[in-house]
Amino acid sequence: MPIATVNPANGETLRTYEAMGEEEIERRLQLAEATFRTYRTSTLEERAGKLHRAAELLEQDAQEIGRVITTEMGKPVRQARAEAAKCAKAMRWYADHAAGLLADEEPAEAEVKDSGASRVLVRYRPLGPVLAVMPWNFPLWQVVRFAAPALMAGNVGLLKHSSNVPQTALYLEDLFHRAGFPEGCFQTLLIGSAAVDGVLRDERVRAATLTGSEPAGRAVAATSGEMIKKTVLELGGSDPFVVMPSADLDRAAEVAVNARVQNTGQSCIAAKRFIVHSDVYDAFTERFTEGMKALKVGDPLEEDTDVGPLSTEQGLDDLMELVDDAVRGGAEVLCGGERPDGPGWYYPPTVLAGITRGMRIHREEAFGPVATLYRAADLDEAVLIANDTDFGLSSNVWTRDESDVDRFVRDLEAGGVYVNGMTASHPAFPFGGVKRSGYGRELSGHGIREFCNITTVWHG
Ligand code: NAP
Repeated sequence: MPIATVNPANGETLRTYEAMGEEEIERRLQLAEATFRTYRTSTLEERAGKLHRAAELLEQDAQEIGRVITTEMGKPVRQARAEAAKCAKAMRWYADHAAGLLADEEPAEAEVKDSGASRVLVRYRPLGPVLAVMPWNFPLWQVVRFAAPALMAGNVGLLKHSSNVPQTALYLEDLFHRAGFPEGCFQTLLIGSAAVDGVLRDERVRAATLTGSEPAGRAVAATSGEMIKKTVLELGGSDPFVVMPSADLDRAAEVAVNARVQNTGQSCIAAKRFIVHSDVYDAFTERFTEGMKALKVGDPLEEDTDVGPLSTEQGLDDLMELVDDAVRGGAEVLCGGERPDGPGWYYPPTVLAGITRGMRIHREEAFGPVATLYRAADLDEAVLIANDTDFGLSSNVWTRDESDVDRFVRDLEAGGVYVNGMTASHPAFPFGGVKRSGYGRELSGHGIREFCNITTVWHG
């Protein structure tokens, strides 16, 4: 895949970049290591000041970088600006909370005595340069939710971003530099995916985080396993959205639409499978389908666009194949299902009913505005369908019955259970999945400690 900005709204190549060669990669690795040696001794106050400055700059740049994102990966420009705002919030959150999250811990006195020590403390120390392999779908957010905690912890970052968002990748390096972080604290490597392995094998790179597809996660985890390096993986998802009879149906249907089509449906935590109790199946389906039909699909630079083009031509082809396979298998198309004529990688909001286990869309992630509907006879069946997937990122349940909630929280195989709402990440809460959605957590205290050397300091 060339490293280039190709506008998804019309397929036009706007800018291409030469991939960095071995010499340049070596220069950047050396710089990362050298910078880490001094940066690790900086104080949390110094780091926090720079991160606050980065948040301010990002807010000032929101208009401009929002348009860049939209022309690189096609999300509606309103959503691109909102992404910048969310990043600024996360930067401030980590700037303000890192000291507390990384404070020394003192074990209970009885245990300290039991170990024969006069004093014990647990200290969170940085690991070193961390490689971040990131996807294009939230090209700022995915990076910032790694970078903000990593920089606060005293690590330095090396970003290998998706090949279709090079301008955003370079912007991020520039942003952290302008905010006052020493050169080398956060560097972008303009490289293709084939060059990741070599970087990962370099001794100077101490750990890796990857957000992306399962094959990419597997490749990075395999090499990291060989090299005995810590990894965090945030992979795909096919989150269930369960609607029970006691739910507020109007609200559930309205949120369902947003949960499915946010970011033109290209979100790992988008609700993808809608599992509806028989008693309310028809009523929910009607409201939901009407909501999907009412969305405005079009130019992502227009302020009132709800759904833009898909980010890549390959993504569009993959999505169409999934829908065609389902239709061949007998799925009913309640709306959408046909690619419109004209330029750009557009696909309409689509609702499919009558999904069976043999269809690919039942097992694979639909990365675009396509919803699948399932009818469940009762809560047990809803849980069975919800868990009948290799993924386990998050889940959404709609009910006013507390005993339903207890069952879902006990039984759903996912890293999140959102009750009467849609999944959305927040800096203060852990984010990540189980099963093939990956392992490890980002955000919150859990996220910042993933790339720390958790050190026991024992005094005799
Ligand atoms: P992708 O192809 O896996 O790309 C993600 C990143 O991995 C890119 O930087 C890509 O570089 C790189 N990459 C690809 N193959 C690689 C390999 N063999 N070795 C090393 N690096 C490799 O994913 P995508 O299709 O762009 O993104 C969509 C996927 O990400 C979906 O499955 C989605 O659910 C998942 N996702 C998960 C989360 C989460 O938090 N769990 C969030 C967002 C997205 P190139 O661009 O150069 O190929």
